[in-house]
Amino acid sequence: MEYKIAVIKGDGIGPEIVSEAMDVLQCVGKRFGHTFRFQEVLAGGCSIDAYGKPLTEETIAVCKEADAVLLGAVGGPKWDHVPTEKRPEKALLGLRAALGLFANIRPAMLYPILAPACPLRKEIVEGGFDLVVCRELTGDVYFGQHYRKESERGWGEVGCDDMNYSVYEVERIARRAFAMARVRAKKVTSVDKANVLETSRVWRETVTRVAKEYPDVTLEHMYVDNAAMQLIHDPKQFDVILTGNLFGDILSDEAAMLTGSIGMLPSASIGESGVGMYEPIHGSAPDIAGKGIANPIATILSCAMMLRYSFGLAEEAEAIERATQKALEEGWRTADLAAGQGTVCSTHEMGTAICKYI
Ligand code: NAD
Repeated sequence: MEYKIAVIKGDGIGPEIVSEAMDVLQCVGKRFGHTFRFQEVLAGGCSIDAYGKPLTEETIAVCKEADAVLLGAVGGPKWDHVPTEKRPEKALLGLRAALGLFANIRPAMLYPILAPACPLRKEIVEGGFDLVVCRELTGDVYFGQHYRKESERGWGEVGCDDMNYSVYEVERIARRAFAMARVRAKKVTSVDKANVLETSRVWRETVTRVAKEYPDVTLEHMYVDNAAMQLIHDPKQFDVILTGNLFGDILSDEAAMLTGSIGMLPSASIGESGVGMYEPIHGSAPDIAGKGIANPIATILSCAMMLRYSFGLAEEAEAIERATQKALEEGWRTADLAAGQGTVCSTHEMGTAICKYI
């Protein structure tokens, strides 16, 4: 089969890590008899430099035409002072909207071999853990109205952000989470703040109703403050964490740190149908950009998610995941994983090792 992939390398370490991921896809293609055709386009800071805006119509068109989008990361200090509406990160919001992406799926698993890089005590993470955060992407306080007004109490200027969720948006993401739990450990933990927020009460009622369509999956509700605590206390209790845009943003970064390095975690953003976007959860890491030391694993594992979710190539996805595990077992470590021990390898050496094991 032939697959068209729009590639946005982006800024900072983006080009370094995406190049390794493209090599890994080519290896998979060779081994399994597929052709991956890449079309590179700009978005983020490099697009501002080239075209004066973070996202062009051409980039959107190429992404819509593709079977999937592979993205590195965007942003960096160079563009910190551009006006808000032109910031590199606007490219991500624009792409999500243009492609109708409403679910962000972020697995967080601890490979037992990386347990020393995990900040939790050994007995808490013994045997590793395997959870996935299913975060709603198009609603919540990020997409309500943002405005300022004068305080009615005479306290000066007030910043306001409207938080809202419709039943439709909650149903849509909840079904994704339950469907995912069905092929995993069959448990959904829905995270909200229903003791305080009306949006969360709509969220909780809707999730409870949708759960009836999935009687084989266990549903539990958890307040976000408790969820933040439980992730540290006992991450093994979770299978699928279903949550809104804001809480998901925070909890998935917390879960990321439990795996030892932010450089390990892939993500998929998917919509009702059509093109999915696959990217590491980390940013453009300007502090290490251009040094050839970034960990490419999050981006490489994002390609495995692409094969599984967009192309239905489960065996090929597993080949990437197994090769990554093998590379780690054989002792390959980029600086972020080495925790001051053993030999440190470069971005390219890690990519090459994974290709070899595929
Ligand atoms: P970051 O994720 O880029 O970096 C945080 C820390 O993690 C840094 O110390 C960095 O060196 C390290 N790190 C990140 N990825 C790594 C990897 N693959 N290997 C080894 N170490 C890695 O977050 P930040 O510093 O808050 O943001 C930097 C820039 O990235 C900002 O402009 C921000 O807006 C942008 N950003 C973009 C995205 C995206 O494109 N999806 C996401 C988050 C942040």
